[in-house]
Amino acid sequence: MREIRAEYGRAVIHSPWAVDGEDASRTEVRHFLTDDGAIVSHQTQRESARDCGCLKPPGGFCAECGRLVCVDCFVHCWNCNKPLCLCHGNERRHAEIENAWLCGECHGRIKGKRILRGILKPFLSFEE
Ligand SMILES: [Zn+2]
Ligand SMILES: [Zn+2]
Ligand SMILES: [Zn+2]
Repeated sequence: MREIRAEYGRAVIHSPWAVDGEDASRTEVRHFLTDDGAIVSHQTQRESARDCGCLKPPGGFCAECGRLVCVDCFVHCWNCNKPLCLCHGNERRHAEIENAWLCGECHGRIKGKRILRGILKPFLSFEE
């Protein structure tokens, strides 16, 4: 068989911060001419794994590390709704609320507030 034509395609995902996109998938189509004069086409689709290592559809980019993670590894900050990867979200979960992931900024703020409230509680007992 003689190759008579090849086509290459590339799907790219861009983060809001970077100019260079990340490969989402590539396609490759090759057309051959058989000895009998027929055209045979082969198509290959190559899917890239996300930065989290999963082969799931992309969920979004983490605002803290810029990684493109899949739908399962993508969460939002419980307080300010900033997009986060599960790695960053899991590092700083809300101590009192289940599945409440926090970004670095909010985690620091909420932790500080709790400590402050703890100190002020004896003096402000009428508040709650
Ligand atoms: Zn991250
Ligand atoms: Zn993932
Ligand atoms: Zn936040």
